[in-house]
Amino acid sequence: MKFDKEKYKVYTWKNGMILHWILNPGLAINELILGQRVPKISLEDKTIDKPRIERTFVPCPHCETLHDGRTWSTTNGTAFKNWFGLYCKNCGKIIPCLSNILSFLILLITFPVWGWFRDSLKEKWLEKQPKRYENIDIENIPNPFDKKNWILSGLIWGAFMFLIISIILPSFSGQIITLKSLFVGVISWTIGGLAFGYIMKLFNNKKTVTS
Ligand SMILES: [Zn+2]
Repeated sequence: MKFDKEKYKVYTWKNGMILHWILNPGLAINELILGQRVPKISLEDKTIDKPRIERTFVPCPHCETLHDGRTWSTTNGTAFKNWFGLYCKNCGKIIPCLSNILSFLILLITFPVWGWFRDSLKEKWLEKQPKRYENIDIENIPNPFDKKNWILSGLIWGAFMFLIISIILPSFSGQIITLKSLFVGVISWTIGGLAFGYIMKLFNNKKTVTS
Protein backbone atom coordinates (compact mmCIF):
# COMPACT_ATOMS: atom_id res chain seq x y z
CA MET A 1 0.00 0.00 0.00
CA LYS A 2 1.41 3.39 -1.04
CA PHE A 3 0.96 6.56 0.97
CA ASP A 4 1.23 10.20 0.08
CA LYS A 5 4.48 11.06 1.84
CA GLU A 6 3.78 14.77 1.48
CA LYS A 7 0.59 14.40 3.47
CA TYR A 8 1.42 11.59 5.86
CA LYS A 9 4.29 10.75 8.11
CA VAL A 10 4.49 6.95 8.13
CA TYR A 11 5.18 5.23 11.45
CA THR A 12 6.71 1.76 11.47
CA TRP A 13 8.80 -0.17 13.99
CA LYS A 14 11.72 2.10 13.11
CA ASN A 15 10.11 4.97 14.99
CA GLY A 16 11.30 5.36 18.61
CA MET A 17 7.86 5.36 20.18
CA ILE A 18 6.83 2.25 18.27
CA LEU A 19 10.16 0.54 18.94
CA HIS A 20 9.52 1.15 22.63
CA TRP A 21 6.33 -0.92 22.30
CA ILE A 22 8.42 -3.82 20.97
CA LEU A 23 11.31 -3.60 23.43
CA ASN A 24 9.76 -2.67 26.79
CA PRO A 25 9.11 -6.02 28.48
CA GLY A 26 6.43 -4.47 30.74
CA LEU A 27 4.24 -3.82 27.74
CA ALA A 28 3.97 -7.56 27.13
CA ILE A 29 1.35 -7.41 29.87
CA ASN A 30 -0.71 -4.87 27.94
CA GLU A 31 -0.45 -7.07 24.91
CA LEU A 32 -1.03 -10.54 26.34
CA ILE A 33 -3.43 -9.83 29.18
CA LEU A 34 -5.30 -6.74 28.00
CA GLY A 35 -5.05 -7.44 24.29
CA GLN A 36 -3.86 -3.94 23.51
CA ARG A 37 -2.16 -3.83 20.12
CA VAL A 38 -0.17 -1.42 18.01
CA PRO A 39 -0.58 -1.63 14.22
CA LYS A 40 2.52 -2.32 12.12
CA ILE A 41 1.85 0.84 10.16
CA SER A 42 0.17 4.04 11.24
CA LEU A 43 0.00 7.43 9.58
CA GLU A 44 0.18 10.92 10.95
CA ASP A 45 -1.56 13.55 8.84
CA LYS A 46 0.86 16.46 8.54
CA THR A 47 -1.74 18.78 7.04
CA ILE A 48 -4.20 18.96 9.96
CA ASP A 49 -3.52 21.41 12.77
CA LYS A 50 -4.74 19.29 15.68
CA PRO A 51 -3.20 17.16 18.45
CA ARG A 52 -1.60 14.02 17.09
CA ILE A 53 -4.24 11.73 18.60
CA GLU A 54 -6.82 13.39 16.32
CA ARG A 55 -4.82 13.04 13.13
CA THR A 56 -3.48 9.51 13.39
CA PHE A 57 -4.78 6.98 10.90
CA VAL A 58 -4.46 3.23 10.64
CA PRO A 59 -4.51 1.81 7.11
CA CYS A 60 -6.09 -1.58 6.46
CA PRO A 61 -3.78 -3.40 4.03
CA HIS A 62 -6.68 -5.57 2.80
CA CYS A 63 -9.26 -2.97 1.77
CA GLU A 64 -7.05 0.16 1.97
CA THR A 65 -9.46 2.01 4.26
CA LEU A 66 -7.78 4.66 6.39
CA HIS A 67 -9.27 4.27 9.84
CA ASP A 68 -9.20 7.07 12.36
CA GLY A 69 -6.81 5.93 15.10
CA ARG A 70 -9.48 6.66 17.72
CA THR A 71 -11.56 3.79 16.34
CA TRP A 72 -9.70 1.67 18.88
CA SER A 73 -10.19 3.50 22.16
CA THR A 74 -11.43 2.88 25.67
CA THR A 75 -14.45 5.11 25.01
CA ASN A 76 -15.51 2.80 22.18
CA GLY A 77 -14.64 -0.25 24.28
CA THR A 78 -12.24 -1.35 21.56
CA ALA A 79 -8.84 -0.42 23.03
CA PHE A 80 -8.41 -3.89 24.51
CA LYS A 81 -9.23 -7.54 23.75
CA ASN A 82 -7.53 -7.23 20.38
CA TRP A 83 -5.45 -10.35 20.85
CA PHE A 84 -5.46 -11.34 17.19
CA GLY A 85 -4.89 -7.83 15.87
CA LEU A 86 -6.99 -4.79 15.05
CA TYR A 87 -10.29 -5.68 13.42
CA CYS A 88 -11.19 -3.77 10.25
CA LYS A 89 -14.88 -3.03 10.40
CA ASN A 90 -14.93 -2.26 6.71
CA CYS A 91 -13.73 -5.59 5.30
CA GLY A 92 -13.81 -7.82 8.38
CA LYS A 93 -10.15 -8.74 8.08
CA ILE A 94 -7.37 -8.23 10.59
CA ILE A 95 -4.96 -5.33 10.42
CA PRO A 96 -1.47 -6.72 11.19
CA CYS A 97 0.04 -5.59 14.47
CA LEU A 98 3.46 -5.45 16.06
CA SER A 99 4.52 -7.94 18.65
CA ASN A 100 6.28 -7.05 21.86
CA ILE A 101 9.51 -9.06 22.08
CA LEU A 102 8.65 -10.59 25.46
CA SER A 103 5.12 -11.56 24.49
CA PHE A 104 6.51 -13.04 21.29
CA LEU A 105 8.88 -15.21 23.35
CA ILE A 106 6.16 -16.20 25.82
CA LEU A 107 3.82 -17.16 23.00
CA LEU A 108 6.60 -19.09 21.30
CA ILE A 109 7.51 -21.07 24.41
CA THR A 110 3.91 -21.79 25.35
CA PHE A 111 2.88 -22.59 21.78
CA PRO A 112 2.61 -26.34 22.51
CA VAL A 113 -0.09 -25.46 25.05
CA TRP A 114 -2.21 -22.93 23.19
CA GLY A 115 -1.23 -23.77 19.60
CA TRP A 116 -3.86 -26.52 19.45
CA PHE A 117 -6.62 -24.03 20.13
CA ARG A 118 -5.30 -21.18 18.06
CA ASP A 119 -7.64 -21.55 15.11
CA SER A 120 -10.79 -22.09 17.14
CA LEU A 121 -9.89 -19.24 19.52
CA LYS A 122 -9.31 -16.94 16.58
CA GLU A 123 -12.58 -17.97 14.93
CA LYS A 124 -14.54 -17.29 18.12
CA TRP A 125 -12.79 -13.97 18.56
CA LEU A 126 -13.51 -12.96 14.96
CA GLU A 127 -17.20 -13.79 15.37
CA LYS A 128 -17.47 -11.34 18.23
CA GLN A 129 -15.81 -8.43 16.45
CA PRO A 130 -18.51 -6.92 14.18
CA LYS A 131 -20.77 -6.24 17.17
CA ARG A 132 -18.00 -4.39 18.98
CA TYR A 133 -17.68 -1.94 16.11
CA GLU A 134 -21.35 -1.19 15.54
CA ASN A 135 -21.41 2.12 17.37
CA ILE A 136 -17.96 3.52 16.86
CA ASP A 137 -17.62 7.18 17.71
CA ILE A 138 -14.53 9.11 16.77
CA GLU A 139 -15.70 12.66 17.31
CA ASN A 140 -16.38 12.80 21.01
CA ILE A 141 -13.47 10.86 22.37
CA PRO A 142 -11.80 12.52 25.30
CA ASN A 143 -8.04 12.54 25.05
CA PRO A 144 -6.94 10.43 28.05
CA PHE A 145 -3.65 12.32 28.17
CA ASP A 146 -4.97 15.84 27.68
CA LYS A 147 -4.53 18.65 30.24
CA LYS A 148 -4.18 17.01 33.66
CA ASN A 149 -5.71 13.71 32.51
CA TRP A 150 -2.26 12.26 31.89
CA ILE A 151 -1.66 12.11 35.65
CA LEU A 152 -4.70 9.92 36.29
CA SER A 153 -4.13 7.81 33.17
CA GLY A 154 -0.47 7.31 34.14
CA LEU A 155 -1.33 6.38 37.73
CA ILE A 156 -4.00 3.89 36.63
CA TRP A 157 -1.47 2.26 34.33
CA GLY A 158 1.13 2.27 37.17
CA ALA A 159 -1.38 0.70 39.59
CA PHE A 160 -2.20 -1.97 37.06
CA MET A 161 1.47 -2.77 36.52
CA PHE A 162 2.04 -2.84 40.28
CA LEU A 163 -0.80 -5.32 40.71
CA ILE A 164 0.56 -7.63 38.04
CA ILE A 165 4.32 -7.34 38.63
CA SER A 166 4.50 -6.88 42.40
CA ILE A 167 1.56 -9.04 43.48
CA ILE A 168 0.14 -11.45 40.91
CA LEU A 169 3.35 -12.64 39.20
CA PRO A 170 5.29 -13.21 42.49
CA SER A 171 2.29 -15.10 43.94
CA PHE A 172 2.22 -17.41 40.94
CA SER A 173 5.95 -18.04 40.96
CA GLY A 174 5.96 -18.72 44.71
CA GLN A 175 8.03 -15.69 45.68
CA ILE A 176 7.47 -14.15 49.07
CA ILE A 177 5.88 -10.73 48.97
CA THR A 178 7.38 -8.54 51.69
CA LEU A 179 6.53 -5.10 52.95
CA LYS A 180 9.77 -3.93 51.40
CA SER A 181 9.00 -5.38 47.97
CA LEU A 182 5.53 -3.79 48.09
CA PHE A 183 7.02 -0.46 49.10
CA VAL A 184 9.59 -0.56 46.31
CA GLY A 185 6.82 -1.57 43.91
CA VAL A 186 4.54 1.32 44.91
CA ILE A 187 7.33 3.87 44.57
CA SER A 188 8.68 2.59 41.27
CA TRP A 189 5.28 2.15 39.62
CA THR A 190 4.11 5.56 40.77
CA ILE A 191 7.17 7.10 39.13
CA GLY A 192 6.91 4.73 36.15
CA GLY A 193 3.21 5.49 35.75
CA LEU A 194 3.69 9.24 35.85
CA ALA A 195 6.56 9.00 33.35
CA PHE A 196 4.39 6.86 31.07
CA GLY A 197 1.48 9.32 31.32
CA TYR A 198 3.72 12.27 30.60
CA ILE A 199 5.36 10.66 27.56
CA MET A 200 1.91 9.76 26.22
CA LYS A 201 0.77 13.32 26.80
CA LEU A 202 3.71 14.68 24.81
CA PHE A 203 3.21 12.14 22.06
CA ASN A 204 -0.57 12.35 21.70
CA ASN A 205 -0.84 16.10 21.93
CA LYS A 206 1.97 16.94 19.57
CA LYS A 207 0.85 19.40 16.93
CA THR A 208 1.76 19.22 13.25
CA VAL A 209 5.31 18.12 12.55
CA THR A 210 7.53 20.52 10.71
CA SER A 211 10.00 18.03 9.26
ZN1 LIG B 1 -10.12 -3.61 5.72
